[in-house]
Amino acid sequence: MTESIRERARRAAERYVIPAAREADEKRVFRRDVLEALASEGLVGACLPKEYGGGGLSNREHLCIYEELGRADASVRGFVTVQVGLVAQCLLDWGSEEQKQRWLPKLCSLEAIGSYALTEPEAGSDVCAVQTTATDNKLTGHKWWITNGSVADFAIVFARTGPDRRGGLTAFLVTELNAERMDAAELGHRGSDHAELHFKETPGEVLGGEGRGFEVAMGGLDHGRLGVAAGAVGLHQACLDAAVEHVRGRRQFGKRLGDFQLVQGDVADLATELEASRALVERAADLQDAGDPEAHRVTSMAKLYATEAASRAAGKALLLLGARGYNNEFPVERHYRDAKGMEIYEGTSHIQRLIIARDLIGPDPERKAK
Ligand SMILES: Cc1cc2nc3c(=O)[nH]c(=O)nc-3n(C[C@H](O)[C@H](O)[C@H](O)COP(=O)(O)OP(=O)(O)OC[C@H]3O[C@@H](n4cnc5c(N)ncnc54)[C@H](O)[C@@H]3O)c2cc1C
Repeated sequence: MTESIRERARRAAERYVIPAAREADEKRVFRRDVLEALASEGLVGACLPKEYGGGGLSNREHLCIYEELGRADASVRGFVTVQVGLVAQCLLDWGSEEQKQRWLPKLCSLEAIGSYALTEPEAGSDVCAVQTTATDNKLTGHKWWITNGSVADFAIVFARTGPDRRGGLTAFLVTELNAERMDAAELGHRGSDHAELHFKETPGEVLGGEGRGFEVAMGGLDHGRLGVAAGAVGLHQACLDAAVEHVRGRRQFGKRLGDFQLVQGDVADLATELEASRALVERAADLQDAGDPEAHRVTSMAKLYATEAASRAAGKALLLLGARGYNNEFPVERHYRDAKGMEIYEGTSHIQRLIIARDLIGPDPERKAK
């Protein structure tokens, strides 16, 4: 079963995503047509229940889709992570039946695009510093770096409804986004849409109950981080494949690059870290599927390890390709730039380390007692 999903995802990635990726990156174009083609193949929302238009796959089975899309283009994989991993999963976990029926089938068919709006200029890693406020379900504030923001039909927006840092956050479904696509040419993910959203007494509809925003946000991030981690495995695989192909063909000093032991060491490291990443990501997916309480920590480990390993892999592959790796004739240069972003969004590597360590060490009982 898993192989056939992988094959389907790979065929679609080769047919639709890879041919468009270089131009989308160069021209900073968001290719909705590519995403619609993936949706028509059942590859957007495949992990959602069939009753809501999904394919009913487990998280573990769904990894293949993220991986194959990540191997082709991190911008496209990133779109699916937001649309499905963050937005659809938050709706599935926290929405009323009416909210699920309204949005989930459309998210799968791409009749609607969703975005997840948490970050603000003063609230990045510190998500509880959100300053957007909501009074009587009317939102006022400003979000930035919101993936899909200017192409979205709605966003899940996190706003402050009370003074308590965590308990004062509420999630809202908002359709009036007043979005502005961000102008600056980002280092990577240039085929994505990133926007600023502006709210002024903008109506919203509560998702998951007042004061539950922090839980909604964190639950979504657990799903999203799995998507980022699996996408990183795909990007890592693409770098390994490019490096191996190159060192097999390129000759210097009278022999193949791949016959030099220093080069062999790089190839071996690339391949070994890839297997370690993939195993860790699969373990996180299995724990999520089992509803295991360790899933949260292991998902952070998977996101941390897989994105950092992918970044190292892209750097090594780029070096092995020499000057060819340094221009956009080969996709490794794009993978290198995209990998850096993956270490930042959905919680930076520092934040993943904090989550892992705090979960293991636990709260200080003396501080709790005071
Ligand atoms: C490509 C891309 C797409 C994105 N898409 C979305 C989206 O769809 N929705 C959304 O809401 N946001 C999105 N973001 C925003 C992203 O989630 C934030 O950039 C990220 O959470 C980090 O916040 P910041 O940029 O404000 O950095 P800061 O929080 O200012 O962090 C700066 C540095 O300080 C470190 N740091 C911060 N606090 C600590 C600490 N306590 N201990 C140790 N180190 C710390 C960080 O790890 C980082 O290295 C996106 C960002 C990018 C780059």
